[in-house]
Amino acid sequence: GGGIYLDYLNNDSRLVIENIKKAHELGGLMVSRMKAVKVIHNQFGNACGVTVKDMISGEEFDVKAKIVLNASGPWSDFVKDLDDKHDPKKTQMRPTKGVHLVVDQSRLNVPKPTYFGSGTNDGRMIFTIPRDGKTYFGTTDTDFKGDLTHPKVEQSDVDYLLRIINKKYPNAHITLDDVESSWAGVRPLVAEEPAPVDEKAEEEKPDVVSGASDSGSHKLTASQVSRGSSLKRADDGLITLAGGKLTDYRKMADGAMKMIIEIMNSQYARDYKPVDSANIKVSGGDFDSDHAEEELENYAKKAIAAGIDPVGAEKMANIFGSNMDEILASAKDVKPVQGLSLAETLSLHYSMENEMAMTPEDYL
Ligand SMILES: Cc1cc2nc3c(=O)[nH]c(=O)nc-3n(C[C@H](O)[C@H](O)[C@H](O)COP(=O)(O)OP(=O)(O)OC[C@H]3O[C@@H](n4cnc5c(N)ncnc54)[C@H](O)[C@@H]3O)c2cc1C
Repeated sequence: GGGIYLDYLNNDSRLVIENIKKAHELGGLMVSRMKAVKVIHNQFGNACGVTVKDMISGEEFDVKAKIVLNASGPWSDFVKDLDDKHDPKKTQMRPTKGVHLVVDQSRLNVPKPTYFGSGTNDGRMIFTIPRDGKTYFGTTDTDFKGDLTHPKVEQSDVDYLLRIINKKYPNAHITLDDVESSWAGVRPLVAEEPAPVDEKAEEEKPDVVSGASDSGSHKLTASQVSRGSSLKRADDGLITLAGGKLTDYRKMADGAMKMIIEIMNSQYARDYKPVDSANIKVSGGDFDSDHAEEELENYAKKAIAAGIDPVGAEKMANIFGSNMDEILASAKDVKPVQGLSLAETLSLHYSMENEMAMTPEDYL
């Protein structure tokens, strides 16, 4: 048998940015570089907002809301701890680290993305992905208790992956010297301890998004922990949406929105109805998705006609999609930047004006 693995084609940061831009277009208020530092409560003890810290100016202020939802991935337990009504002993997350290594395609040439069993009896699948003249492979899956913001690639991660790759591709003889780059990420896995039967349940709502393991998953190996998600509402109303995978994001958001609509309609006399998010295009996706390749080619052609080099034009069309019209329309007002191509200049300008890019890292 075989399978088609499409997740690798996704540009995760762009998916997040285009969702945020669409939410803004639909009336949402977006902020960047703001860290929640405390959950605040009204006189009835219900969560009614957060104190945030502006990570650029250092200023702190309160943001009030009828509903507070914690969607902070691997940091979910830390954000719950910002709520002084939450018991810090009740941790929910079991983060695991995943490492990828990158070699030149001349050292490991796989014609198509491939995945196969690790051959080490740990139940893991390993991916080899060709992209832009390089091949990357991974991942590891190990429990992680370190600094979530800066997970590091350890020698043991490299040894594990090289052992498997050289077994699968015995003629490749990949060594550490071939590894040009690497990255490590932390998976936000949910692993709840079963609650003692006589203890009052911490949360009042059942899971809306199914799949999270809740039966003694601390006994499982890292790779056996469910990739399912969990949606919970604490006694003070703080909602936490955790776990899952990128591919589940719309399903998870749907579950959370159903919970939010129910609260708003029953407690705040609103008449909100769920939307069908399958029919709402993210920003930049406003074209015929059945003919996506043709449509993107047309945007690239328009960019070339506006003086952008073909490689830059194709890249921009892929990143910005239907927003290319707006970018090209503003091109005449954008001043050239020394050392940057026209494609780079326009992309940078657009990101600063429309995507809250505040630092070079934000843009990249
Ligand atoms: C190696 C690896 C491979 C993976 N492969 C796949 C795959 O093939 N397919 C797939 O579907 N998924 C995959 N995943 C899983 C996927 O990446 C995650 O499920 C997804 O990124 C989780 O998104 P999230 O928004 O919940 O968390 P995150 O993307 O981690 O976002 C959480 C955000 O919360 C912010 N935050 C934290 N604390 C605070 C605070 N106090 N105040 C304000 N903001 C805060 C953080 O800055 C961060 O931006 C993989 C993950 C890893 C690590």
